[in-house]
Amino acid sequence: MMVEELRVFVNERAVRVARGATVQDAVAALDGDLAALLASDAAYVTDGVGRPVDAGGPVGEGGGIFRVVVTARRGPPRLSKEALRRWPKAELHVHLDGCLRPETMLELARAQGVRLPADTPEGLTQALSVKGSRSLEEYLSKYEITLSVMQTAEALERIAYEFVRDVAAEHVRYVEVRYSPALHRPALTLTEAIEAPLAGIKRAEAETGTKVGLIICGIRTLPPAVSLELAQAAADYRSAGVVAFDLAGAERGHPAAEHRAAFAHAARHGLACTCHAGEGDGPDSIHEALHACGARRIGHGTRLGEDPALLTYVVEHRIPLEMCLSSNVHTRTVAALADHPFKRYLDQGVVVTLNTDGRLMDGISLTDEYYLAHAVLGLSRQDLARVVLASCESAFLPEYEKVALISRVQSELEAL
Ligand SMILES: [Zn+2]
Repeated sequence: MMVEELRVFVNERAVRVARGATVQDAVAALDGDLAALLASDAAYVTDGVGRPVDAGGPVGEGGGIFRVVVTARRGPPRLSKEALRRWPKAELHVHLDGCLRPETMLELARAQGVRLPADTPEGLTQALSVKGSRSLEEYLSKYEITLSVMQTAEALERIAYEFVRDVAAEHVRYVEVRYSPALHRPALTLTEAIEAPLAGIKRAEAETGTKVGLIICGIRTLPPAVSLELAQAAADYRSAGVVAFDLAGAERGHPAAEHRAAFAHAARHGLACTCHAGEGDGPDSIHEALHACGARRIGHGTRLGEDPALLTYVVEHRIPLEMCLSSNVHTRTVAALADHPFKRYLDQGVVVTLNTDGRLMDGISLTDEYYLAHAVLGLSRQDLARVVLASCESAFLPEYEKVALISRVQSELEAL
C-alpha cells in the first residue's frame, strides 16, 4: 500500500506532509511565519548535513531532515505575525489599483465582459504577482490588468469600499490611498472617477471607524498638462476627502520638475504634496521632488543614502519617507530584503514609515511588512511602535485630527 503521508523533520521537530509536498510546504506545516521568511528570501533551507536545499523542490519519498536558516536577523523574532496583526497601524502609501480582491476582479470582469489572464482567484493572484519583475517599469505594467476592470463608477466604489474593509480588518486605523483618475478616462470623467471611490470610502469609514484620505496621482509619463488638470480636480475635492497630490509612474527619464505647475497649483489650494522619488532613480530625483516640486513627504526615498548631504537635510527638516520593503525587492530597487536601508535610516534619525504599495500586486499585507521589519531587519518592539507613531504623525490630516489619531493609537499600543 502507498504511504499517503511523509514524515519530515524541520528544525528537529517532526511534521507530516502529503506525498508530493515541497520542502516549503513542510516548513509551513511547522511554522507559517518561518515559511513567510523563506518565501521572501530572508531564510534558506539546508539538509541534515548543512547543504543548501531548494525549498521549492519536493520532499523525497523517504521523508527528510531539514533545517531553516534565517539570515540577517538580530536575535530571534519575539513578535509573531498574529501579534502584529492586532497592533494599531497607519498606512500612507498604497495604490488603490494594486489592492483589488481577486474574487472581485473576476466578478467585475464577467459582468463587464473584460478578459483577464486567469479565471480563478489563485491563477489571477499568480498572474498579477510582481515577484519576478526585473524593473519598476515591468512592475507597473501589471497595473494595466487591474485597471481594465476599474472603468465604471460602480467598480471604483466597490473596490474602494472593499479596500478599506480589508485594511480595517488588520487594524489599520488610518490609511491614505492613492490612484490616478486620469487612468479611468475616457470611460469616466475626472469628476466621476473621484466621486466614485470617495463614496466607497465614506461607506466603509462609517462601518469600520478607520479614517481614510484620498491622494490623487499625476503620472510622470503623461503630459504635464494632465497633471495640472488632476491637481485642479484634486483641489476641488479638498474638503470632500482628497488630502494630497502625488506624482507616480516610471521615474527615470521623466523628471518631476516637468510637473511643477501641478504641484504649485495643489499647494496654492491648500493640498499637501508627496512624490514618488528615489525608487526608480537616484537621489537627484528626491532633491527635485523636494526643491522643485515642494513635496512634503517622499514616496519610497529608498536611494536617499547615496547622497549623505541630502540625507542630513531630510533628517533636519523631518521629511517623512513612505517606505515599502517588499515592493522595493520586487522592483529591484534593492537586491534583497536584508539589504534594505529602512533600519539604517531609522537609526540615523530619518522619519520612516512602513507601507505596502500594493497588497494584491506585492502579495502582502501591512502586517507582513511589520513582521519583515522585525524578523529580517531586526526592528525591536520599540522601533516598530516608533514607526507606527511616525506614520500617524506624518499623516496629511489637520492638526486636531492628527492629535486625536495619535492619542487613539498610542493608548491602543499601551494596552497591548
Ligand atoms: Zn507607489
